[in-house]
Amino acid sequence: MLLKVLSVGPLSVNCSLVVDEETGKAVLVDPGADPKRLLSAVEGLELVGILATHGHIDHVGQVKTLKESFSAPFYMHPADAFLLKDTLWPGFERHIGASLPCPEPDVELKEGMEIPVGNSTLRVIHTPGHTPGLCCFYSEESKILIAGDLLFKGGVGRWDLPGGDVGALKKSLQRVFSELEDDVVVVCGHYEETTIGHERRFNPYLRAL
Ligand SMILES: [Zn+2]
Ligand SMILES: [Zn+2]
Repeated sequence: MLLKVLSVGPLSVNCSLVVDEETGKAVLVDPGADPKRLLSAVEGLELVGILATHGHIDHVGQVKTLKESFSAPFYMHPADAFLLKDTLWPGFERHIGASLPCPEPDVELKEGMEIPVGNSTLRVIHTPGHTPGLCCFYSEESKILIAGDLLFKGGVGRWDLPGGDVGALKKSLQRVFSELEDDVVVVCGHYEETTIGHERRFNPYLRAL
């Protein structure tokens, strides 16, 4: 499995392109902005899924464009459906370059679901708190966790937006840190990547859990 992370839009959302090299099949996770770059990134590949870690428009802003160009299904957790119509702040969609309205999901994510990417799979870990439907995607073979806004290098997702829940966020973080080993690479929703081990040692928010 090959992972390429594209930092898109003014909020530097990490859009992950996950490719199974044997079959040329690929999925895009969190296609938030910069449609031209997204389209050229998947050139020559067979796009078999468009995945959202959660429903915030900076993460789903270009699902519409991709759905217009490909027949790949859009996967999102149903608990975040209410966010697809929420721009969070007036004019925010223009600022971040989102193309709205975001289509409804074709496939509803569920805890434990395995999403096929050619001969590889991504496992869904439902980790509510930042939003009620936030899901991480975990590659067991590559030891990569695509975590969306659950976790950042030195930080955690904010819980003060609609549907946020600090108690749920704590439980989700405790679960991820109890289940995953230190060498798992974490692709965060924005900015730099990190590892489970680095955050376990240095993340001040996690010490407070
Ligand atoms: Zn978010
Ligand atoms: Zn975000």
